[in-house]
Amino acid sequence: MNALAATNRNFLRASRILGLDTKVECTIPKDDGTLVSYVGFRVQHDNARGPMKGGIRYHPEVDPDEVNALAQLMTWKTAVANIPYGGAKGGIGCNPRELSLSEQERLTRVFTQRIHDLIGIHRDVPAPDMGTNAQTMAWILDEYSKFHGHSPAVVTGKPIDLGGSLGREAATGLGVVFATEALLAEYGKSISNMKFVIQGFGNVGSWAARFLYERGGKIVVISDITGAIENPNGIDIPALVKHKEGNENLKDFPGGNVMDPNDLLVHECDVLIPCALGGVLNKENAADVKAKFIVEAANHPTDPEADEILSKKGVVILPDIYANSGGVTVSYFEWVQNIQGFMWEEETVNRELKRYMRKAFGDIKGMCKTHECNLRMGAFTLGVDRVARATMLRGWEA
Ligand code: GLU
Repeated sequence: MNALAATNRNFLRASRILGLDTKVECTIPKDDGTLVSYVGFRVQHDNARGPMKGGIRYHPEVDPDEVNALAQLMTWKTAVANIPYGGAKGGIGCNPRELSLSEQERLTRVFTQRIHDLIGIHRDVPAPDMGTNAQTMAWILDEYSKFHGHSPAVVTGKPIDLGGSLGREAATGLGVVFATEALLAEYGKSISNMKFVIQGFGNVGSWAARFLYERGGKIVVISDITGAIENPNGIDIPALVKHKEGNENLKDFPGGNVMDPNDLLVHECDVLIPCALGGVLNKENAADVKAKFIVEAANHPTDPEADEILSKKGVVILPDIYANSGGVTVSYFEWVQNIQGFMWEEETVNRELKRYMRKAFGDIKGMCKTHECNLRMGAFTLGVDRVARATMLRGWEA
């Protein structure tokens, strides 16, 4: 049996053992006293290389298929990054924007009560994802500790005061920029003066925009859920960050013109960076994409049909399982610091992140050369190969 078949077989067996379609119901009282139920999931995909790792997402579209796919992506992502983890993902089908802070806290605590026996420092280590943040991790840590004693390494992406790592908050965005630098260098280019279009101004998009701006990149279009703005001379990102900190809508920012967010993905630029939801590049819009490079800061932003259309057009795509691996890589550093009981300087975190991102890029390029394939297949063959090796070394392949 070859490596891929062995991995797939083990995945299917593990899925059955783990009952991947099991969901937990979380009932909480709303602030007005009425009871409401939400469905939550934690999918554990593979643990051949180490404890399972991945975020917990709060979003109205969370469903078992999506969480399953995202859990599997985490397995390949941690393998590509070469950090000693498997893959998992969780989520609750809810709209956190419609929940008060205390409702979010109650929901998180009930969810943790349901899954506390499934997670653990050497078993499965959650982290933030869309709709969750350091505060969510603090509640999980606190609730988990009631059952198992104080265990800061059970979640990553925590607040610094509870054992979080310096640099974790910005890590996915910074990793995206290190990845972009590595890619552009292959083509004799650098970030300075290149034109970028960024979809999303959440944790990933806002930090990526800041680091690109610092390096002289021109962000000509950026969006958030309220809309999109453009400025052909480049948007002043530090000013936009200040504007947003004042709780203002992005589309009211005076340093850009409002544009139709539907045109964002097909806007003229050098590098397109989707930092929001999955599936945004599809057969409806792929043929009209003008970017020469796409850096997948979101998870699975390009559907398979778009992937084919874009590849035929010669667009170079840096795949999600590498491009956005900076977050989970610094999660690993956080976990290591918690286990060491020693806090690293931010400079050390960022230097190590750069080293990991560079190394993974080189490893992907190596696979592209060996297998004469594009970057997505280079990353997937790298990830699958590492997982398959661990699987076989453990003797699980029979
Ligand atoms: N949610 C992030 C991701 O999709 C981070 C996961 C983690 O740090 O464990 O990669």
